[in-house]
Amino acid sequence: MLKPNLNEAKQRNREKILVKTNEYIINDQIKDIGLGKKYFVKTYGCQMNEHDTENIKAILEDMSYEEVDNMEEADLILLNTCAIRENAHNKVFGMIGRIKTLKESKPDIIAGICGCMAQEEKVVDEILKKYRHLDLVFGTHNIINLPNLLSKAITSKEMQVEVLSGQGSVLENIPVKRDSKYKAWVNIMYGCDKFCTYCIVPYTRGKQRSRLPEHIIDEVKELVSKNYQEVTLLGQNVNAYGKDLDLEYTMANLLESVAKTNIPRIRFVTSHPWDFSDEMIDIIAKYDNIMPYIHLPIQSGSNRILKLMGRRYTKEEYLTLFDKIKNKIPNVSVTTDIIVGFPNETEQDFQDTLDIVEYCKYDLAYTFIFSAREGTPAAKMEDNVSLEDKKQRLYKLNERINYYAKENNLKYLGKTVKVLLDKKEKNGLSGYTETMKSVYVDTDHQYLGQIKEVEITDVRTWSLKGKIK
Ligand code: SF4
Repeated sequence: MLKPNLNEAKQRNREKILVKTNEYIINDQIKDIGLGKKYFVKTYGCQMNEHDTENIKAILEDMSYEEVDNMEEADLILLNTCAIRENAHNKVFGMIGRIKTLKESKPDIIAGICGCMAQEEKVVDEILKKYRHLDLVFGTHNIINLPNLLSKAITSKEMQVEVLSGQGSVLENIPVKRDSKYKAWVNIMYGCDKFCTYCIVPYTRGKQRSRLPEHIIDEVKELVSKNYQEVTLLGQNVNAYGKDLDLEYTMANLLESVAKTNIPRIRFVTSHPWDFSDEMIDIIAKYDNIMPYIHLPIQSGSNRILKLMGRRYTKEEYLTLFDKIKNKIPNVSVTTDIIVGFPNETEQDFQDTLDIVEYCKYDLAYTFIFSAREGTPAAKMEDNVSLEDKKQRLYKLNERINYYAKENNLKYLGKTVKVLLDKKEKNGLSGYTETMKSVYVDTDHQYLGQIKEVEITDVRTWSLKGKIK
């Protein structure tokens, strides 16, 4: 049994990150373990988790399991969890309870959790104490060891717990079962070293470590050869790409190299304002296939709170960057993340946040009430903003965010925009504009997977409606 260790997860040293290309092995004994059996994977949280689930599914299918989208029919259930907020935790423990009931009628079911909650000491201790009906706990660093852990859990009928808490390495050649035939997630880096005081990610995802450019470019080229229309370059803080490599090669260089593969659409998430370079802005403006959409989390508009959060920029620096992006990238849409009710946040601090929203007029914002994560510095701060005030502020903030989201969407009425129609809907197709606006089109499915010119005929706060030109 290897349990997570928070102190180990906090460590960062100068050891060179290893890039491992042949770690994923599946031996013959294990290949047929899943024959005639079904698996169900439920994913919580961010795009990184969604992409990890694509790896997990491919590994399970290498073991001859077949996917079902209904937990009750499954022989193997995995929850790929998120640790970012308390409500994500609660949802997962609720699901673990449901699995217990299911196992009472189907005792041979194998069930487990993985992802960021599995990297938390407190969670694994609770599982070992109260949720002994689970068979498997593994983390974000050892997905490739799933075949061994699963076969041990099946043969030994004992819970297998294996969570690595070190800095992590870069693993290449892990199989992937992509959810879409038109859009693909492409990891460019893992982990984060920013240690924002409220964030659990540096402890659950390890040290900031970049994939080698050639591995990323090869992956994108392979997707181009399979006629993929869009890639999203993934990382917790993509702007820091390459800083850990002994190469003079930055995110701006990577974006340019990916643009030259001629993939029709390129996106990237998530950015940290601190590492957003002028070179990146110039490259985004230069290439038509790099989408004019930037997700730029600000978190708070108050310099005092930004300091307490450890965000390393001031609102003035953020606005300078925001203006550069708006001035240099035509039609760019900008979205953000905002936390209200951070410890010691005053009405004035909150007003500073509202002032930023009035200035930036964001296309969309993900807004949250502060949620203390065990082990982070902010969890040791006195959580002295009342729940009433937190709710009040979130309400006020969302009112302004909704107002500008609609205002920005109204600019599209009557306009013709390019939309990648990648999702089937009841009587039509849906997809996103280059600026990440969700669009529904009343049409038959012949255009599925294509980028089409769409004239916008109707506007809502969070979505648009249109017809194919
Ligand atoms: S940059 Fe993002 S992922 Fe990294 S610690 Fe800060 S909030 Fe978390």
